[in-house]
Amino acid sequence: MSRLLVIGCGGVAQVAIQKCAQNSKVFTQMCLASRTVSKCDALKDKLEKKGCPVEITTATVNADDVNDLVKLIKEYKPDAVLNVALPYQDLTIMDACLECKVDYIDTANYEPEDTDEPVWRAAYEKRCKEKGFTAYFDYSYQWAYMDKFKEAGITGLLGTGFDPGVTSVFVAYAKKHYFDEIETVDILDCNGGDHGYAFATNFNPEINLREVSANGSYWENGKWVETKPMEIKREYDFPEVGMKDMYLLHHEEIEALGRNFPEIKRIRFFMTFGQSYLDHMRCLEDVGMLSTSPVMFEGREIVPIQFLKALLPDPASLGPRTVGKTNIGCIFRGTKDGKEKTVYIYNVCDHQECYKELGSQAISYTTGVPAMIGTALVLEGKWKKPGVYTTDEFDPDPYMEMLGEFGLPWVVDENPVMVP
Ligand code: NDP
Repeated sequence: MSRLLVIGCGGVAQVAIQKCAQNSKVFTQMCLASRTVSKCDALKDKLEKKGCPVEITTATVNADDVNDLVKLIKEYKPDAVLNVALPYQDLTIMDACLECKVDYIDTANYEPEDTDEPVWRAAYEKRCKEKGFTAYFDYSYQWAYMDKFKEAGITGLLGTGFDPGVTSVFVAYAKKHYFDEIETVDILDCNGGDHGYAFATNFNPEINLREVSANGSYWENGKWVETKPMEIKREYDFPEVGMKDMYLLHHEEIEALGRNFPEIKRIRFFMTFGQSYLDHMRCLEDVGMLSTSPVMFEGREIVPIQFLKALLPDPASLGPRTVGKTNIGCIFRGTKDGKEKTVYIYNVCDHQECYKELGSQAISYTTGVPAMIGTALVLEGKWKKPGVYTTDEFDPDPYMEMLGEFGLPWVVDENPVMVP
């Protein structure tokens, strides 16, 4: 018996909520709350028409406002809050969970909406110099809640999507079952899907474009090595997808893995992009459309990237038209019983299969399923530990089992082609 409050009702949330509904032995009651309550009502109707056994209510909430969140949490009295709104709301939702002593789960690292805000900017510039990477997001803001969450006796599970999330569980699983010592990890995120548009993003455009237009970086010998955006390119022949170009990006799980597995000498993250996506992105960046700084337009202030978001296809609408597969996983090199070995653990997910099952494309699907799994493990007490943790800090076995059970089976290849 557990009550879950879900905040956000976008692409990822729609999958996470439907997957919670499939797991009614853990989730018995759910409140779906977002800025636009009509989206929550529509999903509630869809689930109820299918005979969903979970009791569902809906609510409007402004997740930027701690008081509004606290009011809703006190009214609904959930056992946990799943944040599948945007990374901008991580800290307000964590504050509200702390005040109400309720477990907190999310899928993405905090980043501020306004990167020009002076106090945040000063701390950011100091961090860039000290740590050597320039991404807008880092774990320091959420790790700072460790003692407060411990004192309150509540669990904060950070980043339980696919990457981060499953990729970090793959690292913990490889360490537990395949290696005495891991030396290198390459995280490969391949989307072989085709939606037929010249340009669209697979999840929230603002978050997605910020991430991929930023400098790349990787972790080597305890330090960050930063690269220009898209500076490092490799080709890889992905199982069930085929040959793709992929580019090195900074990615949030590297920070947690570098801290939690100090033995790992190098951690890199690569994502595949087609030429059309890159050409569009470069052009949009060159004309200032990816900027998060407000500009005046015909007497009113607009934020260019938010305006662009309004023009681009809604990621939630890509489901019916996207064909092809994703392949996301980790390639490891290390040693076991004194011998060098390599292992590749990956999941392949088919866009059209996801659409048939839940009405979503594979990017939302591969994020929403692990969001449900992490939440279930916290609620069942298997991953309950006061404090704030990433997914690599718990026993990976129950999570891996649930991946298979809830639609993301994985493959272990003990003789993979390595990335040069
Ligand atoms: P969407 O933009 O589709 O959905 C975001 C939802 O949050 C919308 O329902 C939106 O409401 C709601 N929301 C936004 N601001 C507020 C607010 N202030 N108060 C209440 N609700 C709000 O995003 P996605 O579903 O694509 O992404 C969700 C999260 O998943 C993001 O944090 C993203 O970074 C993360 N993600 C993680 C991945 C991983 O592998 N770890 C991969 C992909 C995404 P409204 O509809 O009214 O605007």
